[in-house]
Amino acid sequence: MTKHQGHPGGHPHGKGHPGTRPGTHPGAETAPKRFLDDGVTPICRLIAWEVTRSCNLACKHCRAEAHPEPYEGELSTTEAKALIDTFPDVGSPIIIFTGGEPMMRHDVYELIAYAKAKGLRCVMAPNGTLITPETAKMMKDAGVERCSISIDAPEAAQHDEFRGELGAFDASMRGIQHLKDAGIEFQINTTVTKNNLHLFKDIFNLCEKIGAAAWHIFLLVPTGRAVELGAEIIAATEYEDVLNWFYDFRKTTTMQLKATCAPHYHRILRQRAKEEGIPVNFETFGLDAVSRGCLGGVGFCFISHRGQVQPCGYLDLDCGNVRTTPFPDIWKSSPQFLNLRNPDVYEGKCGHCEYERVCGGCRARAQTMNGHYLREEPLCSYEPKKAKK
Ligand code: SF4
Ligand code: SF4
Repeated sequence: MTKHQGHPGGHPHGKGHPGTRPGTHPGAETAPKRFLDDGVTPICRLIAWEVTRSCNLACKHCRAEAHPEPYEGELSTTEAKALIDTFPDVGSPIIIFTGGEPMMRHDVYELIAYAKAKGLRCVMAPNGTLITPETAKMMKDAGVERCSISIDAPEAAQHDEFRGELGAFDASMRGIQHLKDAGIEFQINTTVTKNNLHLFKDIFNLCEKIGAAAWHIFLLVPTGRAVELGAEIIAATEYEDVLNWFYDFRKTTTMQLKATCAPHYHRILRQRAKEEGIPVNFETFGLDAVSRGCLGGVGFCFISHRGQVQPCGYLDLDCGNVRTTPFPDIWKSSPQFLNLRNPDVYEGKCGHCEYERVCGGCRARAQTMNGHYLREEPLCSYEPKKAKK
């Protein structure tokens, strides 16, 4: 399950996510500050940190093509702590301890406790199969606020097939129970493919039944092992249908629902809200109203097990390495990050789309399916109304 652990995808938001349904007032929440003190660099809200690439599973859609053996060159404990020391300089990001399987890193709880002591919110993206009552307690003691667990089907056979491991579904369910027993909240992440599109209602029902705090859906990005899953990627029209369905479905539940790495959901949300006469603001749609579809390099980044900083785990762009350049310097001035923050350099229809600032298209799909990260998102059927540049 490693794959989307490593991107925002894998990210469990934690408790700070306000209500996102029209009519649900987020109460005392206020819109978050947008820039660092320099007035131009956006606040980094979320960091997915691949603390190890080793994993005990071999999921079909793994971006990291991870294996169980140790990887050369992982950041040492000393290097990892020095990196944590720099995180507060880019805001107060939520840190997602991800992998690989983060539980396979020997000092992961020490690092979480260290980050926690710096006032950072720590969440974890394990695959669930290694969680025992003992490790759940270690997570709790270290300060893990939420875990995301990936479930791609409502029953074992299909999920195990996808995950490449017989018994993975049952093991994840046991892990979830241990989290619940330890008092750690969890969210379910589901990768959308042609294989499970028809099972969505059942997966949602499962999430509700087991008490998930949130359900996040992810659209497959064909990178790593997922390149071979090209035929399982849903078409742009199906993508549109799923996101419209998701918009409607949110109104029927109190569970947090989030379409992650489905940037044009932010376009659909605005189109639908306009049709329904609902203003889009923090009060009506929470963070979805003030956030952006693709946050890669804008409010989010990924740090690899060797310290390479990327816009996200699916977009393998070397934006600098924390071993040679302080992380805040990379965040503030990497040329790739500056490009991603500048809609004027986007190409194709994303470059002249009136929704670009709230959507952005998936830059990883642009890279893997269209050859460059600044080209247009290949899985969007929208035709912009603005004239071409
Ligand atoms: S490029 Fe953006 S939308 Fe695509 S996977 Fe990365 S963070 Fe998600
Ligand atoms: S054209 Fe690009 S920016 Fe516009 S909605 Fe589609 S993916 Fe988003």
